[in-house]
Amino acid sequence: MFNFLSHGNKTFDRGVHPGDFKEQTRTLPIERMPLVDEYILPLSQHLGGPSKAVVSVGEKVIRGQLIAEPAGFVSAALHASVTGTVIAIEPRPHPSGRFVESIVIKRDPYSAQRLFDEHATDWKKMEPAELLRAIQQGGFVGLGGAAFPTHVKLSVPPGKKVDFFMINAAECEPYLTSDHRVMLEQPEAIFLGIRICMKILGAKRAYLGAEINKLDALAQLQSQIPADLPCEIVPLETKYPQGAEKMLTEAVLKREIPSGKLPIDIQVVVNNVGTVAAIGDLFRYNQPVIERVVTMTGPGIQNPRNLLIPIGTKLTEVIEFCGGMKEDVRQILFGGPMMGNAVRSTDVPITKGTSGVVFFTEDEMVSTKEYPCIRCMRCVDACPVYLNPTQLGALARAGHYDDMMDLNIMDCMECGSCSYACPSNIPLVQSFRVGKALLREKMARERAEG
Ligand code: SF4
Ligand code: SF4
Repeated sequence: MFNFLSHGNKTFDRGVHPGDFKEQTRTLPIERMPLVDEYILPLSQHLGGPSKAVVSVGEKVIRGQLIAEPAGFVSAALHASVTGTVIAIEPRPHPSGRFVESIVIKRDPYSAQRLFDEHATDWKKMEPAELLRAIQQGGFVGLGGAAFPTHVKLSVPPGKKVDFFMINAAECEPYLTSDHRVMLEQPEAIFLGIRICMKILGAKRAYLGAEINKLDALAQLQSQIPADLPCEIVPLETKYPQGAEKMLTEAVLKREIPSGKLPIDIQVVVNNVGTVAAIGDLFRYNQPVIERVVTMTGPGIQNPRNLLIPIGTKLTEVIEFCGGMKEDVRQILFGGPMMGNAVRSTDVPITKGTSGVVFFTEDEMVSTKEYPCIRCMRCVDACPVYLNPTQLGALARAGHYDDMMDLNIMDCMECGSCSYACPSNIPLVQSFRVGKALLREKMARERAEG
């Protein structure tokens, strides 16, 4: 068998080494979350314009049926995750902390919950444009957490070409193991998804990059890879943020994405491994994005699990299925501890972008007391895109956002490596998020004013 450990694991320059804390769930097979009574499906659970509802209150819907269509190219379709009745279309709490217009479905307790129009599709007979359309109609977004519409990513702009399709299976966020389990349990769906994406893109070769802390998954994929599939399994060093597109392409291909550019500018398209597996299922079963694998983990949850959860299931119900929270839970994060966002309420639904929910107790809460910058330069050494976080932080504190632009703040991936490395607890990435948002607003205003 191919020996990954002696292969020399690829990586990128800089970054940080947080503990991976994946032992709670890495060996737990994916279980199906039982159906609950009510599902909340936000019209906005992806980057881009919110979807537009095509059902009304009182209408009966079937699991997998279209309930909202994309409102423009950069938008995504939405499907009923259960068979039932639409009981409301109204603002409901969302993991972002806002109230978001949502379609609420009451489950039909007597329905067999069969998939709307289940069938396999002969994808080999389809043209790339037809495959792309099917993915758009299937409501696909990046399931790794970014939730960017997949059909947009797979659309090659005129004048561009794609050499390589990169499958992002790094799963570099501590605690999360949903991609790890998908690789172990759904290799056929992954390989089919890779074939379909390669056909759409016209890519000549695929690379699947996963961190070496998923050795069993790497070995399994390597042993099952079809002989006619030009795909290489690439072991990567366990380092954060290995799963960022720029870091992945640098590690695997030694190709650098220039400042302000995208992977397509170096003839590469990157997609998350869970998304690729779900694309396989679209063509095996005609199943749109109606459920996803979520890691429920952290010291604050009674029974950590990897669960296949229908989109729209309320977090409260999932917590209950996991035996409840421990009494001293202090923080609940959607996503991992490096890039996830804290939620204040458990009334929020699982969305397409929810790769995991992490529960922290009093014991894991580190002091957030901020100290002055000691000019140690650890943040500079950590930044994988060679920014100067200490200088950017000083400009942010002074409100000099225009000057941050000159120091390439828009290249900041908001990975949080600088904040993690800072011994003075300076909230660097938080100030960069604010600075970037203000600068984006300013640029939009200037564009509008001509
Ligand atoms: S400056 Fe941005 S890209 Fe660099 S380490 Fe900090 S958050 Fe990451
Ligand atoms: S890591 Fe923190 S203390 Fe050290 S230079 Fe950067 S901002 Fe200053």
